[in-house]
Amino acid sequence: MSAAIARVFDLHAHSTYSDGAYSPRGLIERAVAAGIHVIALTDHDTMAGHQQAEEAARELGVGFLPGVEISVTWQGKTLHLVGLRVDSGHPPLRAGLEGLALHRQQRAFEMAQRLEKVGVIGIYDEVLSLAGQGMVTRTHFAHCLARRGLAADVRDVFNRYLTPGKPGYVHSTWAGLETAIAWIRGAGGVAVLAHPIRYKLTGSWLRRLALEFKDFGGQAIEVLSGQASPGDVQASAQLAKRFDLLGSCGSDFHGPDQGWPKLGRLPPMPKDVTPVWSLWPDAEALGSTFPPAAF
Ligand code: AMP
Ligand code: MN
Ligand code: MN
Ligand code: MN
Repeated sequence: MSAAIARVFDLHAHSTYSDGAYSPRGLIERAVAAGIHVIALTDHDTMAGHQQAEEAARELGVGFLPGVEISVTWQGKTLHLVGLRVDSGHPPLRAGLEGLALHRQQRAFEMAQRLEKVGVIGIYDEVLSLAGQGMVTRTHFAHCLARRGLAADVRDVFNRYLTPGKPGYVHSTWAGLETAIAWIRGAGGVAVLAHPIRYKLTGSWLRRLALEFKDFGGQAIEVLSGQASPGDVQASAQLAKRFDLLGSCGSDFHGPDQGWPKLGRLPPMPKDVTPVWSLWPDAEALGSTFPPAAF
């Protein structure tokens, strides 16, 4: 008997149903090529890609978990919660995400209006056509503005136009923290605080967030996240241990040319952090037909 092979989990990734570069099928194909055993699709505020991803994952023999990345407003700050293994038929979760989708549409219209005031004319239709049937995000604006040569690259567009205080920024009130956790848990999912270090909170705010998140039923935080430095990983691991939260692991992959990290390329979970998949008795069996056909 050989020892069990370590499973490679990537529990945070995007498709064209939000601001990712690949279709759900394209994402699954790349997950297989990257040697991932279990992948979660976590588009911003939508579950529309689950069915396609699920079908592709079944065909290609990789484990698939339906997920979502929910936009949350907490204490005036925007946070992201990842819901893992959610039942996408759960009515309160579906209704909640529909509300956020509507907000995204209204926000896009307002952003375009604000951008007109600084001379960016007629961007709205371009942005909607780029977003297609997926959620419209600031990333779509960034791509359209960059295409027009209005900034050096996508990151530069964010800095010049799309962040608080800049001409295209529109303040949003997203879902409440307690509400979003309730949607996820109600749908049988696991609530994960995404990329905790990226919010640039002070230590005391971060601890306050972890405490409230836990009190409301949050179960895990991303200890391993695509852009995290070794120091970030250590800080997140400490937070997980202090507040008795499980550790999740997700690249937050969007695509090849966005400067985002690679799919599945994450360091191992620190030994003293309990991984989120300890909640899933079948974790070892997920995607167990791997490796499938090569391509
Ligand atoms: P939204 O939820 O529509 O406000 O868009 C948020 C998304 O924009 C994030 O999930 C990232 O993918 C992307 N984003 C945010 N800030 C930046 C940045 N500075 N550079 C590049 N992408 C960013
Ligand atoms: Mn994104
Ligand atoms: Mn995020
Ligand atoms: Mn994300």
